[in-house]
Amino acid sequence: MKNYVYSFGGGTADGSANMKNLLGGKGANLAEMNHLDIPVPPGFTITTDVCQHYYNYNQSLPGELETQVDRAIVNIEEIMGAEFGDTKNPLLVSVRSGARQSMPGMMETVLNVGLTTHTIPGLIHRTNNKRFVYDTYRRLIMMYSDVVMEKAAGKEPDEGQGIRQRLEERLEEYKKEKNYLTDTDLTSGDLETLVSVFKKEIKSILGEEFPDNPNEQLWGGIKAVFQSWNGTRAQSYRRFENIPSEWGTAVNIQSMVFGNMGEDSATGVAFTRNPATGENKFYGEWLSNAQGEDVVAGTRTPGPLNEDTKTKETRNLTSLETAMPNLYKKLANIRLKLEKHYTDMQDIEFTIQKGHLWMLQTRAGKRNGAAAIKMAVDMVDERLINKQTALKRVKPEQLDELLHPMLDSESEKGARLIARGLPAGPGGAVGKAVFTADDAELWQKRGEKVVLIREETSPEDVHGMHAAEAILTAKGGMTSHAALVARGWGKCCIVGCGDLHINTKKREVSIDKTTLKEGDWITMNGTTGKVYAGKVGLIPADPDTHIEYRTLMKWSDEIRQLKIRANADTPEDAAQAIRFGAEGIGLCRTEHMFFDELRIMAIRKMILAENKSDRRSAVMELLPFQKNDFRGILKEIGEKPVTIRLLDPPLHEFITLTEDQISDLAEHVGQNRANIKKRISNLHELNPMLGHRGCRLGIAYPEITQMQSRAILEATAELTKEGTSVFPEIMIPLVGTVTEFLDQEKIIREVAKDILKETGVKFNFTVGTMIELPRACLTADEIAESAEFFSFGTNDLTQTTYGFSRDDIGSFLPDYLDRKILSHDPFQSLDIAGVGKLVSMAVKLGRAVNPELKIGICGEHGGDPNSIKFCKDSGLDYVSCSPFRVPIARLAAAQAEL
Ligand code: PEP
Ligand code: MG
Repeated sequence: MKNYVYSFGGGTADGSANMKNLLGGKGANLAEMNHLDIPVPPGFTITTDVCQHYYNYNQSLPGELETQVDRAIVNIEEIMGAEFGDTKNPLLVSVRSGARQSMPGMMETVLNVGLTTHTIPGLIHRTNNKRFVYDTYRRLIMMYSDVVMEKAAGKEPDEGQGIRQRLEERLEEYKKEKNYLTDTDLTSGDLETLVSVFKKEIKSILGEEFPDNPNEQLWGGIKAVFQSWNGTRAQSYRRFENIPSEWGTAVNIQSMVFGNMGEDSATGVAFTRNPATGENKFYGEWLSNAQGEDVVAGTRTPGPLNEDTKTKETRNLTSLETAMPNLYKKLANIRLKLEKHYTDMQDIEFTIQKGHLWMLQTRAGKRNGAAAIKMAVDMVDERLINKQTALKRVKPEQLDELLHPMLDSESEKGARLIARGLPAGPGGAVGKAVFTADDAELWQKRGEKVVLIREETSPEDVHGMHAAEAILTAKGGMTSHAALVARGWGKCCIVGCGDLHINTKKREVSIDKTTLKEGDWITMNGTTGKVYAGKVGLIPADPDTHIEYRTLMKWSDEIRQLKIRANADTPEDAAQAIRFGAEGIGLCRTEHMFFDELRIMAIRKMILAENKSDRRSAVMELLPFQKNDFRGILKEIGEKPVTIRLLDPPLHEFITLTEDQISDLAEHVGQNRANIKKRISNLHELNPMLGHRGCRLGIAYPEITQMQSRAILEATAELTKEGTSVFPEIMIPLVGTVTEFLDQEKIIREVAKDILKETGVKFNFTVGTMIELPRACLTADEIAESAEFFSFGTNDLTQTTYGFSRDDIGSFLPDYLDRKILSHDPFQSLDIAGVGKLVSMAVKLGRAVNPELKIGICGEHGGDPNSIKFCKDSGLDYVSCSPFRVPIARLAAAQAEL
């Protein structure tokens, strides 16, 4: 018989940490903690196989499951000395989700299952605490009616009309009637009354009685967890995080332990190191006399775990270390044990029930980029992990966060500070205020930058959080939902900003005397927790001030084989790229140099010239400019190679003119407007991307190639003469046949010969080509006979392999992704099966003819970690990407070796 249920408790467990696929992360780690002798409430895990069965067989459960669950319940009962459904000594359980990869808050949980009118008297008798029992019961009713009776049943009330909100309203009304300020003012009698109010409300709204049978509650909870795997928010989270929907979730059923049994009880969440900075300090939050949901919900402000991590905002709150020193010590020891065992930062949940500490969860903690780097490097110093593991611990994209903008401190000084909150996600952000997740998504889609402002966030908000530049909440702590999600994505985020009075209906927030309306600009400093009205300047990040970043980059450079270059068209961009660690320029697009006012006139003149001599004189006007451009960039890069591409884009890009521009041009060239218009219309192409562009320009107008190669090589000769060795690589674009290459190569080499004669200076240069058409890949052996290097232009190669216009794919790509016709955008991450096959073929064919052939890539894929791995496996020498992706490429290239 297939095993669907894995028990744990009392220091033994059927499962272990390496069974995450079957037991989910939470279940596997609960089992493992038993092996480590860490106190965990006993329970069992229903496997992810059951979830798959649930969806494969019309939402039914396997026949054998019930017997296995019954047996596992008996195991809990034996350890806890209580019985599920017993009227004298009832056992209560929690029912929680737990997928292979953590999906914080995206799926459902039901607590206190097993409490019924029949078990209530027994529990009151055992605990001698009627108030506690009724408080527990009202929590069960609120949670269960929401999760099982409404959401899992597929009922979709309007925003703000859900059963949970309705019950919250009844609770608030009741408190108001009685003049109570907080929930703790409610007496057991009040709670008993509320419970019956709740039950009536449930019956009238949902049309069903609240179940009074423990088994019905248990199976309702189990099915609701499976159901929540396919809930809207879980699905959208999976899409962002690339989690396959086939995985399914496990369900963990565990004996309840209570943090709300009085002042000797508590609950908390903690990280074994600070997840925002990476500092090696035990960091977390706790609440006395509370259940776990209270910490995460942000309804009460939790205290810090210890004295050491108190901040200005939390200095008046009592730490767990002070309130319960012995239990804190126990917890701190468990922290060390877990880190040593897992050799990684853990995110843990604990509950203290009447002076007894229980661990409810451990998992690798989410961290932002800066923290991930610091922890990885520190752990090598502490001999917890080796360098290779450290390199694997940081996702290349996480470096992005260090490269993110920060607020300009000067401009911040003069800004109007309107509020302060907890700095949950570092970096600076500026955007327009919006107040609902849907608005955030809508505004972002139409190109606006937004800051999402919420009382607190819930998993229903993830799509809006994703769309926003930053997230600001009135409630919640550093482990609230908003903080966790933002940190996972490296987003700027401030939480617990208590001064905000948000009116979602009116779409405005007031803070003291200031009111911000929807669409007003707001600025956040996620590193300090400060919120400003209006726009504050942002400055680019400077990762080199981060010591551990430099160490990690050094280790990457020691391991990687691939060289990293940058695509840069100006000396400034080139300098930035070198600061980020680029080892050369892989693509300098010369057309970007033509848009300056003076030059554009010359280039237009050249395009519109009707004969060779006019064209030649127009082109030659550009020579001094171009020479200066190339001097600048070559000098900046010095001894490192610089690949300069000859003119590539369709000429119409330069002659899409307004009426005024036509008049200016007419005057400048001394022709009438009608003539100019006629010439423009003659040059019109139906399909310019496949038209007169790339080397086809230099073939039809050889003077362009002559002028550009002269500019490059004169600059080279001059710099060489001045004692600066430079290494230009002249690249011919969009070659499809070797004859095209030979035609252009001949022009370049003749110019070189002339310059040698004119200057008497010997200089370095090579001539190679872009490989960006399928025919170039298919005939790479012929081209490699003459070309000294290849650079894959995978933007055009993707365009021409798929036949997808790189400019128009946006109109159908969303459908392709939604319907899984494509797994990803092939212009972002290389299509390895198709385009990749052409690349590999070209590498093999080229190297067979010329084993020394230098080969790189300069399409956008050069900065994408998956594509970089492919480039390394295919034997490329280097990848070239935008300057800000250079550090990412360095790390990805190192990871490709591991
Ligand atoms: C390419 O096609 O991949 C490339 C780098 O050139 P461009 O994007 O300028 O066409
Ligand atoms: Mg191209």
